[in-house]
Amino acid sequence: MSNQTNNGHEQIFQPHHVMGLAVPLWVFDIDVSRVVWANDAAMALWHASDRDELYNRDMGADMSSAIEQRLKQYQGEFIATGKEFNEMWTLYPNGEPHTFRVTFRGHKLPDGRMGMLCEAQAEEQQSPERLRSSEALNHIPVSITLYDTNHEPLFANSTAHMTYGSSSLPLRERFCNPVDLDVILEEITGEGHCTLICLMHTPNGDRWHEISARSCIDAVTAKPSYIFSEVDVTELKEQEQKVRYLAHHDTLTGLYNRNYVQLAFPETLARAAKEGRKLAMLLIDLDKFKTINDTLGHMSGDKLLIHVSAALNKLVGDKGLIARLGGDEFVLLLSYSDKGQLNTICSDILTQIAMDCVIGEHRINSGASIGISIFPDHGCNLSTLMKHADLALYDSKDGGRNTFSYFRPSLQRALLQQRSLERDLTLAVQRNEFQMFYQPRVDCKTQEIVSTEALIRWFHPERGLIPPGFFIETLEETSLIHDVGEWMMEQVGRDQRRMAANGFDIPISVNISPKQFECRDFVARSCSALRRADCPTSRIEIEITEGMLMGEGYDAKKTLHQLRDRGFSIAIDDFGTGYSNLAYIQDYPISVLKVDKSFIHMIEDKSPVVNMILSMCRLIGISAVAEGVETMDQLAWLQLNHCNEYQGYLYSRPLPFNELIALFKSPPVLGISADPEFDLLPEVEWA
Ligand code: C2E
Ligand code: CA
Ligand code: CA
Repeated sequence: MSNQTNNGHEQIFQPHHVMGLAVPLWVFDIDVSRVVWANDAAMALWHASDRDELYNRDMGADMSSAIEQRLKQYQGEFIATGKEFNEMWTLYPNGEPHTFRVTFRGHKLPDGRMGMLCEAQAEEQQSPERLRSSEALNHIPVSITLYDTNHEPLFANSTAHMTYGSSSLPLRERFCNPVDLDVILEEITGEGHCTLICLMHTPNGDRWHEISARSCIDAVTAKPSYIFSEVDVTELKEQEQKVRYLAHHDTLTGLYNRNYVQLAFPETLARAAKEGRKLAMLLIDLDKFKTINDTLGHMSGDKLLIHVSAALNKLVGDKGLIARLGGDEFVLLLSYSDKGQLNTICSDILTQIAMDCVIGEHRINSGASIGISIFPDHGCNLSTLMKHADLALYDSKDGGRNTFSYFRPSLQRALLQQRSLERDLTLAVQRNEFQMFYQPRVDCKTQEIVSTEALIRWFHPERGLIPPGFFIETLEETSLIHDVGEWMMEQVGRDQRRMAANGFDIPISVNISPKQFECRDFVARSCSALRRADCPTSRIEIEITEGMLMGEGYDAKKTLHQLRDRGFSIAIDDFGTGYSNLAYIQDYPISVLKVDKSFIHMIEDKSPVVNMILSMCRLIGISAVAEGVETMDQLAWLQLNHCNEYQGYLYSRPLPFNELIALFKSPPVLGISADPEFDLLPEVEWA
């Protein structure tokens, strides 16, 4: 028979001895899933008609991938350790299940590859449950290992073999953290069972396993033993770690986030309290973040934030916790030895942050402001410390930015005053406590009133007259400015009409604050207010400051053109205090430039600058107005240097409407020595 000479196996097995053995024996080529040699008993077991048919049978055709993998695993182990395996297998030689106890041993094929020699013992007497359970045990994707009390393995299912491969590491050494095993054994001794997620050494690297362990009795020896079932939960664990990371970190900078601050800072404070240590809370806010974000785009803003977080990491390292609260706000909780050291840390932070950060072709830098509160001196809990650091932060911004400030109780008093001011202003809007005053603008040569400026006043029911310098900023912060601004525009419109009715149809200029100007519907709201007052827009001049021309996040030029198209004229107020760039003023539809009073008051020192401003105005056809003219000398200088118009106490202080009309009717005769101190607005203290 051709099969008698098959593959050269006969030489190894001495056919006349083994061929007739009652025990089924066959050699399996794992790589091609073929039986390459079988004795007669195996032929019968496999229900083979002849050897050629058996040797050509594709055993892989209906082999599950789990079995296939397991055989590969065995192949590896045969090569590495020469181990043999004894398992219950259900074979399907003619489509019907037959269960055998099969022993597998490594067997070198003639070409040198590793095959396996299989020896089957019929186990037909086993109960169906036994058979099924042992079969199931080898198919489930859970590693199951039975150990005796000395941690010697008594049994491992095929997944366990696959998981740990040929590694013969003792149980303890499989644990990356051997204490985990102690915990498990302790729990088992007490409770009888234990479930723990542990990091395990496996041939595939360290993996997280959920281990369920119980104590049991070995069915063979009847001795106490442990059964471990292990499921690989690495992906879950990584997912969970990722979720936890995301929950506590800022994705952009990798710093902690606000959630983490709420969660972990109180614990850190509690620990410091126990140990009697002081901690410093630093709130950091970038000075130019909004501008950079708006002008160079969000990508640049993001890069700046990353630059800052790197600087903070570098300086603070493990001395404290660093978190980004959102936007450009960072919070630090630091240990420090003394105030000198803390001051140094703060200046270092400011220096590092202010260092240039290169973004594309831009080299940008942003200063920062820092507010500091000390635990426990300025507060014992997170929210108080934050609130106080925030007050200190505002103080440091007021102090000119790029500085740091410590909290002090007077800051809180200022806050309370601010609160009561806000409350009173809200009431003022409801109760109509504002009134418009007017200051004439006069032709330098003819002394004729050519225009007036509307200046707002607040008549507080208890405090009396309050000047705008005291409350405009608060109106802006509380957004009350929009309502007040609209009221003001309508009131000014009505007053202009009343002036015209009195025979003085001259324009009125109104001051517009940045918050109003950048508002989308500013032009529309102004127009409709004037329409209600029945006042033409050509009688109204809009005063804005230089800074507003370079608007952040809105198109100043577009708004100015809209205003001019609607008939308004536009004046630049307080000129000289901002960027003082006459060159770009040309690009805007501007008809008046008001030179700030600080120049006029120091006209002796500033005369070259003012002179240059006046010449430039003449050159580009803009009318120049000097503000704050108080003396005849100042007026004389302005006349000499061809300034067009002026405004100031010299001619008149701002007046209520009726007094203005009276002034129109009998203009003042300018004295040689007008007293600049008369009728100055009161200094306000808000208790
Ligand atoms: P401003 O627009 O520069 O107004 C001129 C300020 O100088 C006024 O102060 C005026 O009373 C004062 N002044 C006029 N002549 C002289 C002078 O000869 N010497 C001195 N030392 N001061 C003089 P006021 O009325 O206290 O207004 C302060 C600022 O408040 C204004 O500065 C303006 O920016 C703002 N403001 C006033 N009214 C309004 C308003 O209705 N809306 C807005 N948004 N801001 C207003
Ligand atoms: Ca003004
Ligand atoms: Ca001004």
